[in-house]
Amino acid sequence: MATLKAVRGTRDLLPPETALWNRIETTARRVFARYNFGEIRTPVFEDTGLFARGVGEETDIVSKEMYTWEDRARAQSEKTQMLTLRPENTAGVVRAYIEHGLGETGLLQKLYYIGPQFRRERPQKGRYRQFSQIGAEVIGPVSAGSESPLRDAEVLEMLATLLDELGITGWTLELNSVGSAADRAKYNDALRAALEPVVGQMCADCQRRAVTNPLRVLDCKVPQDQPIIEKLPVIADSLDEASKGHFAAVMAALDAAGVPYTRNQRLVRGLDYYTRTTFEFTHGGLGAQNALLGGGRYDGLSEMLGGPKAPGIGFAMGEDRLVLTLQAQELNQSSTPRQGVDGFIAPIGEGMNIEALKLARELRQTGLSIELGEGSFRLKKSFETAEKVARRIVILGEDELQSGILTVKTFATGVQEKVSRAGLSGFLAS
Ligand code: AMP
Repeated sequence: MATLKAVRGTRDLLPPETALWNRIETTARRVFARYNFGEIRTPVFEDTGLFARGVGEETDIVSKEMYTWEDRARAQSEKTQMLTLRPENTAGVVRAYIEHGLGETGLLQKLYYIGPQFRRERPQKGRYRQFSQIGAEVIGPVSAGSESPLRDAEVLEMLATLLDELGITGWTLELNSVGSAADRAKYNDALRAALEPVVGQMCADCQRRAVTNPLRVLDCKVPQDQPIIEKLPVIADSLDEASKGHFAAVMAALDAAGVPYTRNQRLVRGLDYYTRTTFEFTHGGLGAQNALLGGGRYDGLSEMLGGPKAPGIGFAMGEDRLVLTLQAQELNQSSTPRQGVDGFIAPIGEGMNIEALKLARELRQTGLSIELGEGSFRLKKSFETAEKVARRIVILGEDELQSGILTVKTFATGVQEKVSRAGLSGFLAS
């Protein structure tokens, strides 16, 4: 029988790598709490219409990459529904904001999420079909200040802090403004006009986009199309005074906070809901898939989903790519981190198994990490096993139990010494 494997584009995360994932998530939660964000957990699947309306029919995500199925009715009272595994989480958060009337509090909602997303992309390094995003949204009524450029700057400054605290060095913040819906309509007209004479030489997707949603032409990755895209008009020329002013205020606040950025006029992002500020943090070490995270403002999204006016700004970080970046950085560092659990208890003879279990419990209750050996093992096998999983081995035989003096070997130094049971916890912690 053929063996079953994880589906293409999905992977198992195993220890010790999962420790790095947990460290990233713990750091993110700590930083988010300092900026007064609370966690939201939305369902992993939603009505397909949410993404079609929220993310945009013409985007690659909706037109090519979603995992969608027909959920058949199980009872007369149920309707058959089209459902989709979430390809991103902002639409779900905004749906929840509307559904729970969060805007009625009159306060800004600052929400973060951590969880899997699903896109049927071509798998490669840093690009998977199930991947994890850490994201956050600031959304609320205009009266709560949700439109303020200060919010954009606060989110960007928080991201700079988070990447620094994660220990990710060498990131670049790329910044742009895609203006208001009216600015984008104007820009789409300018693009349509500029594309008309050249679109015949472009890929099939671009030929379609040039008609339906010319802005999406800027997302095109086909190499032959790039020289044409280079010469297209830039969005900055289509921004009205209010959008220009908003963007200038975001940049001034970033300057004041000392957050470095570069402007990237082509950064329109692959989702339709963005307005005004768009950004990406990139990292050179990632290769082709160099975006660590992306985000921007979505002032009209709530209304697109049938909700009240609720401007917002948010981002999603690719957790898989944070892990890749940190792993690459750690490879470059000479210092190796502390390996293994604090102690391995080796009972001598099966009769000592229960005593070893008791000692392990005692030590674990002091906060130490302990692995429990097996009394039926020869001492040599216990030493060999211990060396693979622990920093030290503790020998527990009849004599040790009676005398309360145990033999402990520290593998890093090779030193073997006697330690009293009362002092054992402190010794193993050192
Ligand atoms: P997006 O929702 O497309 O703006 O993506 C935000 C971030 O999620 C990107 O910057 C990536 O870090 C990450 N990301 C998006 N798609 C994938 C994928 N297929 N595999 C891994 N990470 C991804």
